[in-house]
Amino acid sequence: MGNTIFSKIIDKEIPADIVYESDAVLAFRDINPQAPVHILIIPKIEIPTVREIKGEEHSQLLGEMYDAANSIAKDEGISEDGFRLVFNCDDHGGQEVYHIHMHLLGGRQMNWPPG
Ligand code: 5GP
Repeated sequence: MGNTIFSKIIDKEIPADIVYESDAVLAFRDINPQAPVHILIIPKIEIPTVREIKGEEHSQLLGEMYDAANSIAKDEGISEDGFRLVFNCDDHGGQEVYHIHMHLLGGRQMNWPPG
């Protein structure tokens, strides 16, 4: 039982356009895409922010999230041109949903600094 909208997506209580699912990880299209490809890759366990990530405890989970990102990027046809992976953290990071999520963005040229 979690506290965010993403827990409801994991529990299939609200719909999402799911592109990848395993026992530990779920990935689905962002409802408000900021690029032609914008997918959120999340752990099924609730970790509110990246501050709570512990290398010893979560390394396998994080590894699977990066594997999923690479696999989805290939499936979406954005792997060769490149893409961006982003974790927003808390207020200054621009985090809105307090269940960690990796944004996979691609299909257009990204800018830097991100603003
Ligand atoms: P954050 O700002 O926390 O890094 O990113 C949260 C992301 O979740 C935003 O890009 C937002 O569009 C997306 N989002 C919020 N609610 C929903 C939802 O109900 N479904 C989907 N698919 N994406 C959502």
